[in-house]
Amino acid sequence: MDNQSSNPQAQVDQPDAVERRASTSSYSELQATNDPAYPTKKQAFIQRLKQAYLFDLLRARPHSKHFRHTRAQYINGRVRPIALLLALLIPAWIAVDALFLSGSELKTISVLRITCGALFLLLCLWSSANHSLLVARIKLTLLVVIPSGFHTAAQFVLLGNGHDSLPAGYHFFPFMIIGLGGIFPLTIFEGALLAGFVVGLYILNHLILGDLFSYSSLNDIWLLTLLAGIAGWAALTQLSMMMRLYRQAHRDSLTGLANRGSIVGFLNREAQSAREQGSPLSVILMDLDKFKRINDTYGHAVGDEVLINVSQLLIKTSRAEDFVGRYGGEEFLMVLSGTDAETALKIAHRLRSACDQQHIKLLDEQLLSYSTSAGVAELKADETVEQMMKRVDDALYQAKGAGRNCIVVADDSDG
Ligand code: GH3
Ligand code: MG
Ligand code: MG
Repeated sequence: MDNQSSNPQAQVDQPDAVERRASTSSYSELQATNDPAYPTKKQAFIQRLKQAYLFDLLRARPHSKHFRHTRAQYINGRVRPIALLLALLIPAWIAVDALFLSGSELKTISVLRITCGALFLLLCLWSSANHSLLVARIKLTLLVVIPSGFHTAAQFVLLGNGHDSLPAGYHFFPFMIIGLGGIFPLTIFEGALLAGFVVGLYILNHLILGDLFSYSSLNDIWLLTLLAGIAGWAALTQLSMMMRLYRQAHRDSLTGLANRGSIVGFLNREAQSAREQGSPLSVILMDLDKFKRINDTYGHAVGDEVLINVSQLLIKTSRAEDFVGRYGGEEFLMVLSGTDAETALKIAHRLRSACDQQHIKLLDEQLLSYSTSAGVAELKADETVEQMMKRVDDALYQAKGAGRNCIVVADDSDG
């Protein structure tokens, strides 16, 4: 378990052992009841929390690199139209202010509105190709801080100029800012930070204005908190939905590993950065030996059990930086960033011998063992990912030809 939680793919991209256990057949459930390592009540409770993705909803740290990127892209995509809308609507209200505000305050408020609109326009035009979560969070922060700054300044201008209370449109700003949070997929931590900032600023402003404990201010704080709860719930629902869809799209439903599309996408991205940084990149393509025979002899459910067993083993025995996926029926692909063929071969040997030592207990107490063959290849400077995959596939084929339960390193003179 410890090993899995330190592995990035044991997170959003890859479920933990609990999720995989949950997806196993009734055969595995029966087996689990005889398993002395079966979780205690407390462990089961923590596992249920994990299954409900509670830790993933709490904060972004457990999210995989790719999921962070996907969420950041989504947040950036939403910030732009909202920023554009506010860039147009906030200065447009000057026309209405002109009817109700007096000369000097109208001038100050107009300057504030134009500044606010200009800042929103800049935010909208900030078309960063960098979809890191940090950039998305900075944009979100600006989306909250710009109107908060405008509201605070406008409040002091208007109340300082003899208005008893803020006009309705100005009064509404903190509520609008809190409501904005509801249209983004935010973690509990991010939502709480946003709400805390808006409510905290409201309290600070009214403390300075000296009316914090008035009926109206207390009522506002209560309403803001209520709205924060509703917006937070909406933001969390979006995050949870996004995670579910992401998992369905990127994971293999039987083993819980990254599916083919996901592992190939990851390989392409890693190959790109390996080329840019001039660092090595290797792959291990692993295939179960005579797997058809296992299916034919023991049935499909046992075959599935073996696939789940291999998947868990690959996660457990791989390093935190390695990424493993189900490449095909009984084929697994491991992407080893920053790793040369020599190290990849050592890792492949470790995986192969770990598989070799497995004994799966069948219902009739019989022990089933299996073996694997693998090909190893390192990306050459002048080849494409497809060419490398062709070489590793050929190496695997050679391993099969050499009698199985062995590993062949791809010849780097062909391809
Ligand atoms: P080799 O050592 O040459 O790889 O032989 P093999 O029998 O492992 O290879 P072959 O390609 O002939 O058979 C692969 C089998 O894997 C056939 C297919 O029914 C089985 N398989 C593919 N996906 C699944 C799955 O999800 N569950 C189960 N139980 N079997 C699967
Ligand atoms: Mg096979
Ligand atoms: Mg195969």
